[in-house]
Amino acid sequence: MGQKYRLRTPSTGREILLEAEPGRTYVDRDTGEPLEVVGKVLPLSPSKSQLPWATENLRFCNWCDQLAQKDLNDCPTCGRRMAALPR
Ligand SMILES: [Zn+2]
Repeated sequence: MGQKYRLRTPSTGREILLEAEPGRTYVDRDTGEPLEVVGKVLPLSPSKSQLPWATENLRFCNWCDQLAQKDLNDCPTCGRRMAALPR
């Protein structure tokens, strides 16, 4: 499995997760803009989460802005309790 990156569309600020290769340019499917690399996504292990590491199962921690699986109450990066997700 490749390294995942957080990529952002500059005009909309929308962020996506992608397995990206260094040196390649990725473009937003809607706007055609080149995406900015925001950061590397580190695999979190061991994790208490049962969810597979996929975009639809992830959220950003409201404290440290790192990714965590949605079924976790405490952020695996900073250890703080994350805000409840809107249902
Ligand atoms: Zn956190």
